[in-house]
Amino acid sequence: MTVRWGLVGASTIGREWVIYAIRASGGCVAAVMSSSADRASAYASENSIDRYYTSITDLLSDDGVDAVYISTTNELHCGQAIAAANAGKHILCEKPLTLTLADAHAMIRAAHENRVVLATNHHLRGASVHMAMRDAVRDGRIGKPLSARVFHAGYLPIHLQGWRLDKPSAGGGAILDLTVHDVDTLRFVLGCDPVEVIAVSQFSGMTSEDMEDAVMGVIKFQNGMIAQFHDGFTTKYAQSGLEIHGTSGSLIGTDVMAQRPIGKVLLRDERGEQQLPTDDRNLYAATVGAFHRAIAGGGLPLASGEDGLWSLATALAVAQSARDGTAVKIETGL
Ligand code: NDP
Repeated sequence: MTVRWGLVGASTIGREWVIYAIRASGGCVAAVMSSSADRASAYASENSIDRYYTSITDLLSDDGVDAVYISTTNELHCGQAIAAANAGKHILCEKPLTLTLADAHAMIRAAHENRVVLATNHHLRGASVHMAMRDAVRDGRIGKPLSARVFHAGYLPIHLQGWRLDKPSAGGGAILDLTVHDVDTLRFVLGCDPVEVIAVSQFSGMTSEDMEDAVMGVIKFQNGMIAQFHDGFTTKYAQSGLEIHGTSGSLIGTDVMAQRPIGKVLLRDERGEQQLPTDDRNLYAATVGAFHRAIAGGGLPLASGEDGLWSLATALAVAQSARDGTAVKIETGL
């Protein structure tokens, strides 16, 4: 069965990545919804989408839509996801899932009650490099994992320098934009949940003053592991990466916190250094492909609603820690 998609939001991420990923995974982009008729019409025509709407009610009444991809600004995700679930549509929602834990729980509950799939677009789970790191950890190739370092500070491209920098009510700032991905990737690679965090945020002039444009911190995991992270919008020449250090080896991933499949992973241990085999699969197509299979009853999405709740809960704890200057326990309410 071809999954027919309705796009909720005439977004950049949809245009740059997800429309391609849907089509590459055998899905059909049937309709788009924007709050502006001009934007909806232009987006539909530029991206060869048949129908466009300016109201979510109209999009959700479209019998030719099986699933929605929600990529509006973050404060809108919750209401739109619950409406979609109540209309019986499956949901792939952008990260952060929403802005509060109560809203995230309401989204998960609505999907459960309406028996629809709710997934979070943590696309990094679709990366071959992270799958290789996860397999290496699971197979004991680095022994007992002790610590990790996430390098996820870069430069926010000019064309994205909008609501992320000046609209706290839309969930702007580096923590909700980037730290959520770090946490989800660490949970995926380590197979372990975070329990506590301590963080310091920075305002160096890119964002409006009530929001951070960078953050560093340390997350403690259930198994005692500690993970250091650096997220930011402001560093033009930084390189992304993820390192996992264990009792008998280290995994060194370079360029792996990226949208494009450009990273490499080295395993370093007493025998020396070897590059793990990886491929250049499209991260977003891997995510959409798994979502299609989940709808058809063939397994789980790569990142579920609950996974989105975990990354949100950790990001909110990071923000609180940076605000209060204290360590904060991570509570999901699950
Ligand atoms: P955009 O700013 O491109 O789009 C968000 C909303 O902004 C759109 O829904 C649109 O509203 C509105 N908008 C777009 N263009 C204009 C304009 N010219 N004038 C006024 N409003 C406009 O955001 P992104 O695509 O960067 O992000 C959208 C979501 O996706 C966020 O939740 C973000 O966190 C997430 N994201 C996820 C990524 C990932 O890899 N998983 C990467 C990037 C973003 P309308 O629909 O009403 O037209």
